[in-house]
Amino acid sequence: MIPFDLFYYRPDTVDEALQAYGDLVRQHRHPAFYAGGTEILTRSRVQDVHIDAVIDLKAIPSLRIHRDDGQTLQLGAALRLTEVADLNLWPLLTATADRIADYTARRQITLGGNLLSVLPYREAVLPFLLMDSAKVELATQHGLQTRRFADVWDTALNLNPGEFLVSLRVDSQEARNLTFRSHKMTRLDWIDYPLVTIALAQPASGRVRAAFSGWNSYPFHSSTVDQILSDVSRSPQARAADAVSNMPMPAVSDIHGSAEYRQFVTQYTLSDMLTELEES
Ligand SMILES: Cc1cc2nc3c(=O)[nH]c(=O)nc-3n(C[C@H](O)[C@H](O)[C@H](O)COP(=O)(O)OP(=O)(O)OC[C@H]3O[C@@H](n4cnc5c(N)ncnc54)[C@H](O)[C@@H]3O)c2cc1C
Repeated sequence: MIPFDLFYYRPDTVDEALQAYGDLVRQHRHPAFYAGGTEILTRSRVQDVHIDAVIDLKAIPSLRIHRDDGQTLQLGAALRLTEVADLNLWPLLTATADRIADYTARRQITLGGNLLSVLPYREAVLPFLLMDSAKVELATQHGLQTRRFADVWDTALNLNPGEFLVSLRVDSQEARNLTFRSHKMTRLDWIDYPLVTIALAQPASGRVRAAFSGWNSYPFHSSTVDQILSDVSRSPQARAADAVSNMPMPAVSDIHGSAEYRQFVTQYTLSDMLTELEES
């Protein structure tokens, strides 16, 4: 049970959602955008979030879009993770998203909700970190804006108050012409938060790119690590060991595992993934 009153709005358009947010702020309320609701409701129950109104984005058609016209692959932020997997428009995203939570939770959790979570994992972001062409479509007070993913992301998707994520886009050819591997390592159970999740992608004639979740407090991609992993003159084992020594930040120690164990698991998983990628 949520121990305080919560106003609920369900706009049908982007403009109505922006309008609702503005009106609520002018009424000195504290609104939040709401998608699957799993995180907002959990945080509300334990009073870990200071909100008194939610604006449910799921009825807005542009947040439910899913299409690939051969040039651009576009996925709405309010698609649930099970829908992303069932549509399977981008197999790398399917492989990564399909290991988030359990099936029942994935039927609620949305793509946008995962990317904008306060939790450190946000595993669905990994494929987007690997694509030069990745873009976000944002609803802002100045209308819809499309920006490069890399310009909006540092350790999180940086949206201004009142803005929300409408959809994500990648170049269809870039997304399709990839060899990829996505691996999630957990402490014990198949379903858990990651010790480390690694997504590797390699275009037909290009460098290996790697993105990581669980290693530290936010998902990341590092060009230095890509460079190390792409040096095919060295064995996968040597490259994986070197990559782990050159991560941009130290591994975290938490309830899922110590920093040393994370390094160990990451190194051996990376080595196996590189071998698989290069043999495929
Ligand atoms: C049982 C369970 C297991 C989980 N396991 C994993 C896991 O293995 N890996 C992992 O990465 N995560 C995991 N999660 C975390 C989950 O992915 C996040 O909590 C995610 O935020 C939930 O998405 P949602 O759609 O329910 O978000 P909501 O609760 O609706 O929203 C979460 C946050 O995102 C904001 N938001 C949502 N959509 C938008 C939008 N379009 N634009 C702007 N802001 C928006 C909301 O305002 C809120 O701040 C798990 C969660 C549960 C409940």
